Formats: sequence, structure tokens, C-alpha cells
Amino acid sequence: MFQITLEDISGESDVERDLDVAIVGGGPAGLTAALYAGRSMLKTVVFEKLSIGGQIAVTDDVDNYPGIESIKGPELAKRMEKHAKKFGAHIVFAEVTRIRKEGEGKFVLETTEGEFRAKAVIWATGAEPRKLGVPGEKEFTGRGVSYCAVCDGPFFKGKEVAVIGGGDSAFTEGLYLTNIVKKVYLIHRRDQFRAQKIYVEQMKKKPNVEFLLNKVVVEFVGDKMLKGLRLRDTKTGEESFLEVDAAFIYIGLRPMNDLVKDFVDLDERGFALVGEDTRTKTPGLFVAGDGRVKPLRQVVTAVADGAVAAMMADEYIRELEAHGG
Ligand code: NAP
Repeated sequence: MFQITLEDISGESDVERDLDVAIVGGGPAGLTAALYAGRSMLKTVVFEKLSIGGQIAVTDDVDNYPGIESIKGPELAKRMEKHAKKFGAHIVFAEVTRIRKEGEGKFVLETTEGEFRAKAVIWATGAEPRKLGVPGEKEFTGRGVSYCAVCDGPFFKGKEVAVIGGGDSAFTEGLYLTNIVKKVYLIHRRDQFRAQKIYVEQMKKKPNVEFLLNKVVVEFVGDKMLKGLRLRDTKTGEESFLEVDAAFIYIGLRPMNDLVKDFVDLDERGFALVGEDTRTKTPGLFVAGDGRVKPLRQVVTAVADGAVAAMMADEYIRELEAHGG
């Protein structure tokens, strides 16, 4: 029943539905897990609902991956995909909609392309951009409000835009925008930044950046397209209006762990409470990448998780087989 091949899904004729390892999420953690699982000769499929690369697919420059001084995010993603496939891993473009466990080493993944079975699951879905949740945000998304400078920045060439947030994403993506748009307003709710100093210094040197500190956006305003932002000063409470053509929101990440919440302990923000070994309270299920609690969310830490998770999955499967599973 589960030997149907999937030429129609991935263009690969030899993808089966009975797997050793199912990896959910095709970002750096998932693709590295695939590379390592493939090298361990495990029958491996990566499920990706949208596009390969995760966060790096929407990142301009990655300049802190050791040995590669600078590379475009999508290019690094492409290379990781090629590398994983070289070792036999398959990519299936499908959304996983539910995970069931039918016994030790028997996970069933319900996907938009039907059911798959796996002895072990590596959950590497990472996190998605958080929303501000203020009036107008939803209405103007795609009409001036964006969560991806690399995708939408070029539409605002020569215009004035806002970047909201004070972390690494706001700064790296803001820096990217400074090369395209006329002016970037960096809006942050405090006057201290979470972003790495190197990015803050680079931003301060840009002639077309203005910092609007101790300010929060209370409303996105426009008609057909965004026209501006209503801001509130966090110290004085004073309100002001800032005319901009676009606003890029970078206020952190929301982990995508909803489907595994019954199998994994989560913290109050929804991050998986798993340690360096990526093991969860459910044997055979591992969480790798940005979706787990960790002190640093970077490509290097994601790929490290992926490698560890694949090795843990390999160990789990071998023990299972040794006990006749
Ligand atoms: P982040 O580090 O969590 O920063 C989020 C920023 O948004 C903070 O400055 C925060 O302000 C602000 N914020 C949160 N909620 C807000 C709200 N409701 N209203 C206004 N401002 C709000 O998130 P991130 O920048 O998206 O980065 C995510 C992870 O990816 C981080 O671990 C980061 O280091 C990593 N990353 C690394 C690189 C790199 O190394 N090149 C690039 C991008 C991302 P407060 O500071 O006041 O809390």
C-alpha cells in the first residue's frame, strides 16, 4: 500500500511512502539533516510546503557562515539542496497537515500529497515572522506592508520606506533596502538594539537612514496602497504621522510547532524545549533549527542541529532494528 512512487509530486521517480526518516521543513536545519541522513544510507524525504531555504530564501546576504565570506541566501539554499540530494535524500513539495504515532518507530505523516510513514521524524519547520497585530497591518499586507525586503524591496526603488524592529533581521534587511530605496526610517520601540553591533555601525554610516527611536506603530494608514504610519512615542505618548510607501516588519519569529505540540514540550512562546541532542519526550521525534529553544538562531546553529538530529535519528532507528522494530 505504501510503495506508490511519486513522479507527480517531486519529479523524482523513486520516492517511496515508507521512509526511515521524514524531515519536515526545507531550511538549513532540514537540508543538513537530509544530507547527514542520506550519508547514513537512510531512506530520507524532506517535506517542504513552499520553497527550499526557509529564512535564508528571503535573506539577501549571508555573511557569517564560516568559509563563505558572502553569499546570497537563495544561492546558499540551492547549494544545500543539491548537496542533500547528492547523498540520496528526496524533496517532496507538500504540506504536512498532521502527524500520528501508531507505535514505536511508526509515525504517519498526513500531507497534502497523501500519507507517508517514517520510523523517525525530524521537525525542522523553524519559525515565521511575527505580526505586529495593529490596525491596517493585515489590510495593507502585499500593498505596502511586507515581511520580506528581498522579495518586495525592489518594488519601492527610489521611495521612502520604514523598517520596524531592532534585531538582526531589521538591520540586515534594512541595510539591503538602503541600496534600493531613497530613504529608510528605522523604527524601534527602545533606544537600545538587540542587533549585532557590526550591523548597527553599518546602518549608522548610511546617509539615507533615519532612526526613529522609542516609537511604536499604532496604525498602518492608506487607501488602495499604504500611505503612512501612525506612530506613538513610548516615552511621551505623543502621536505623529510618518509618510512612507512601504513598511517592512521585523519584530521576531513565531515557532511553527503547532502540529507537534502533543509530542513535544513547548515553552511559553511555543519554542520546543529540547536540548543540544534535539531529542523530544517522544522517542523517534527530533526538533532541529529555529523552532527549538537556543541562545543563538543563525544558519550555523541550524545546520549543527540538523546534523545532530540526523545522527540521533540514525541511532534511534538502529536500536529499533536491533530490537526487531
Ligand atoms: P529578534 O532578534 O527577536 O528581534 C526582534 C526585534 O523586534 C527586537 O528589537 C524587539 O524589540 C522588536 N519587537 C518585538 N516585538 C515588538 C513589537 N510588538 N513592537 C515593536 N517591536 C517589537 O528577531 P529577528 O531580528 O527577526 O531575528 C530572529 C533571529 O534570527 C535572531 O536570533 C537573530 O539573531 C537571527 N538573525 C541573524 C542574522 C545574522 O546573523 N546575520 C540575520 C537575521 C536574523 P526589543 O529589543 O525591545 O525586544
